Amino acid sequence: MKRRKFLQKASVSGLGVFAASSILACKTEQESDKTQNKQNGTSTIVKPLVIATWNTPLAVETAAKILERGGSALEAVEEGCRIEEANEEGQSVGKGGLPDRDGNVTLDACIMDEKGNYGAVLCVKNIKHVISVARKVMEDTPHVMLVGEGAEQFAVSQGFEKEDLLTESSRKAWEKWKEKSEYKPIINIENHDTIGMLAIDNNGDISGACTTSGLAYKMAGRVGDSPIIGGGLFVDNEIGGAAATGLGEEVLKTVGSFLIVELMRQGKSPQEACEEAIARIVNKPNSDYKNFQVGYIAVNKKGETGAYSIHEWFSYNIYKNKENKNIKSDFILNRKQ
Ligand code: ASP
Repeated sequence: MKRRKFLQKASVSGLGVFAASSILACKTEQESDKTQNKQNGTSTIVKPLVIATWNTPLAVETAAKILERGGSALEAVEEGCRIEEANEEGQSVGKGGLPDRDGNVTLDACIMDEKGNYGAVLCVKNIKHVISVARKVMEDTPHVMLVGEGAEQFAVSQGFEKEDLLTESSRKAWEKWKEKSEYKPIINIENHDTIGMLAIDNNGDISGACTTSGLAYKMAGRVGDSPIIGGGLFVDNEIGGAAATGLGEEVLKTVGSFLIVELMRQGKSPQEACEEAIARIVNKPNSDYKNFQVGYIAVNKKGETGAYSIHEWFSYNIYKNKENKNIKSDFILNRKQ
């Protein structure tokens, strides 16, 4: 399946085919969450648990294995994200990510632990495992963000290897794009691999991570939501966590992941909180939501999960009760036309 088939104009028509299965999958998931919490009593946490954006089974499996052998949620999300960063076929994250309009691959990543610590790197060239650099920023510097050349220098000083991140197929895609050079920062609606991941470990602690190459053919220096605290990721170990994917500008304008965690603090379920965060974007006056995608995932302290998007085709992988499944998310255009 092509990774970057952009949604042109209001192509919501013809999206009905998968609607039924999508909702079915989503409802079944939500119902099983409820049943499980009834059976377990509300004080029982579903753990270990991993949830990640898009169809990322290997990343989730990697994280789950770490949790199953007693590793921390922090270690799990970092290692899970590294799988996608190393996957050269994925064109929205790590090596092989699609470049900016000048042909430079620039990566963004952030990580948040159960103590509320946060680290991020923005617009980094030549370093594949930016999620690990973000963790180093969090743990080994007094800062929370490093950007561009400074981030690259820091990574090298920490022993990270420099390498060319532009693969042959991404270079070819960029050459083709240059023929028209149309700048349409519209997020694709089908398979994707920008990864936001949340995990609960056996202690019941929550951590999260997010890593991306951002929008294809973006302006040089453009950074989206993914590495920004409260935008692409937010974790509060008392409440839960949330992560975003899609058009970062729209996520940032509503501080989406922070919003979801705060809504859960006020008593909303992860599903209700994700739905409200999507509604905030869609219900803005003159929102152009038919032309872009945003998707959220969330988990609360009990291990209940939620996911919601604007358009169809957003999916997430979840590992719980020893099973790793890809589930199609419910979406707002299913209800609103
Ligand atoms: N949210 C990312 C960004 O705006 C892109 C994505 O999720 O595909 O940079």
